Amino acid sequence: LLDPAPIDRATTTTCGYCGVGCSLRVHVRDEQVAAITPVHGAPVNRGHACVKGRFAYAFTRSRDRLTTPLIREAGRDSPLRPATWEEALDAVADRLTAVRDRYGGEAIAMISSARATNEENYLAQKFARTVLHTNNIDNCSRLCHSPSAAGLTASFGMAGGTNPFDDLDRADCILVAGANPTEAHPVIGARIKQRVLDGARLVVIDPRRIDLVGFADVHVQARPGSNVAVFNGIARALLDNGHVDQTFVRERTSGFDELTELLRDYPLDRAAHLAGVDPTPLAEAARLYGSARTPAIVYGLGITEHTHGTDGVRTLTNLAILKGAVGTLDGCGVLTLRGQNNVQGASDMGALPDLLPGYQPITAPRIRTRFSRAWGVEVPERPGLRILDMFAAATTGRLHALYVIGEDIAQTDPDTRRVQAALAACDLVVCHDLFLSRTAEHADVVLPAASFLEKDGTFVNFERRVQRVHPALPSPGEAKTDFEILHLLAQRMDADLGCPTPADAMAECASLTPTFAGISHDRLDQEGPLHWPCRGPDQPGESRLYLDRFATPDGRAALAARPYLPPGEQPDQRFPFLLVTGRRLPHYNSGSMSRRTPDLDLSPREVLDLHPDDAARLGLADGDLVEVTSRRDRVTFPVSLTDTVARGQVFTTFAFPDRPTNALTSDCADTTTGCPEYKVTAVALRPS
Ligand code: SF4
Repeated sequence: LLDPAPIDRATTTTCGYCGVGCSLRVHVRDEQVAAITPVHGAPVNRGHACVKGRFAYAFTRSRDRLTTPLIREAGRDSPLRPATWEEALDAVADRLTAVRDRYGGEAIAMISSARATNEENYLAQKFARTVLHTNNIDNCSRLCHSPSAAGLTASFGMAGGTNPFDDLDRADCILVAGANPTEAHPVIGARIKQRVLDGARLVVIDPRRIDLVGFADVHVQARPGSNVAVFNGIARALLDNGHVDQTFVRERTSGFDELTELLRDYPLDRAAHLAGVDPTPLAEAARLYGSARTPAIVYGLGITEHTHGTDGVRTLTNLAILKGAVGTLDGCGVLTLRGQNNVQGASDMGALPDLLPGYQPITAPRIRTRFSRAWGVEVPERPGLRILDMFAAATTGRLHALYVIGEDIAQTDPDTRRVQAALAACDLVVCHDLFLSRTAEHADVVLPAASFLEKDGTFVNFERRVQRVHPALPSPGEAKTDFEILHLLAQRMDADLGCPTPADAMAECASLTPTFAGISHDRLDQEGPLHWPCRGPDQPGESRLYLDRFATPDGRAALAARPYLPPGEQPDQRFPFLLVTGRRLPHYNSGSMSRRTPDLDLSPREVLDLHPDDAARLGLADGDLVEVTSRRDRVTFPVSLTDTVARGQVFTTFAFPDRPTNALTSDCADTTTGCPEYKVTAVALRPS
């Protein structure tokens, strides 16, 4: 503890900053956080935590916290004014009811929150389906790991990583692709480094020379958008080098012949050419992964946030399947590094337009009937809108109301002009938030929400581990949890969501969701975290998947023959640079929480990383301003000269609203899931 004065109490909870899900001890004095310390012996973080988890808590008592509801008196041009909960809830209930009754439930859409608890996400999708009568519900996994859900399900049968982090401790080769764990998932980054110091080989595939490259045996600095070519090239090399586990392929996989046929077109030289790299590092990457005994793959948003993101996931999983390094004790499988703290859980809970809790398809009559009976309301059959489709529906007059829980879509979603146009086109915009976000500025009603340190429930981390979240603080002013708000709103719309407590919500979810059937708050409190699938109260939960059979319809891992296709945008004479967006260590997503922690002033402003050779060509010195123009908009940044970015590429984040990076980003999206291509935007640079 930084201050030796006695504390009033300490509460153990789960970090709300990233998908690692570290266990934290929150020390409270005078109803303020006095300190946060990592929990020793916690299975995920083993006594470690990063700078965000330990120190970024001042936002909880920031003067910017919303403490009362806000409503507009007369139309979008009038100012937001403080209101009572009665007024605000009545306004939302009346206007949602009016839209639903006039245009039908499909004229309303909800965006649930990857920061909210499982129980809140469960309640949000139940509210959408039973009160609003629509499947128009999605969550921000659409914008990050929806290609993982689709790709992993198609390859292996379930929408989650295959192995626990602990398996990294026995990996003799770790292939990190499209992820920068040192900054985005620091506790895992540290664990990978330790494993390398203990003797594991490390392959890094990333357009930037990220911190882990300093620990790597080989760095494949592939051009953004070339993942499928890279993985097809490595797969071809596994075949050519005799590194394919033929017994595994014969007994436990499908699609081998189609893949080998496709891979005729991907000799290393061609794959390297497509990826803009020398063949030598690509060959070395293939040799290291192929010759390993217990290889692990760790990947992140650099694989998914592409026009061909699902193909990227599928072709990456091909490597683990060919090697026989998944679904067996001889391999460490495929680990997905999820971004937000509960992005796995938001999807697990069915905050998705086509899937009910546990990824049960809405189109399956038997499943829909089960939920309809349990909820006492007919669940709509037609799949709803994905997030980007919601914006298109709003601007074309098909969507009249948008209800956003804890996401700042006007800052974090791509092509923000389009988002703002959609918000302006809606008759009603409602949001729950901690702060007056860019999205809240467009809302008709803003409801003050509780932070993760003020909530009871559970999160799921990116190894499918369900962990308890306990309230350490009361909410400031009149702020309420999303769980309470949804209940109060449903009551005003003459509906009863049931499950009055978060424990009840998890119990109801478990009764309807086979993969969560054995999970309850009581059990988590008594036994500690549990991995899903956990199919009964006497089951331990499966941390390592597919040891007997894969969960695909035929029980086999499905190899995917996917050709390389170029990204949605290409540089040209007008827009000769490629902009890649990502994360920096001190900040989280929109930065709304991390920017409000003065002690965390490591990165107080946004910059654009630029290679010194490009800077010299443009006549720019470190700190100079540069105007960045894409096909959509222009934004000015100070430049930071660094050779961690390749020539012809620039990098920044979207954590600072005064540098609205997503005004620039591409409106291209994954053809399978609609995940935006945040990682490839063609831009021009001009000294400002
Ligand atoms: Fe929190 Fe992630 Fe840092 Fe752990 S690594 S303390 S979960 S932000």
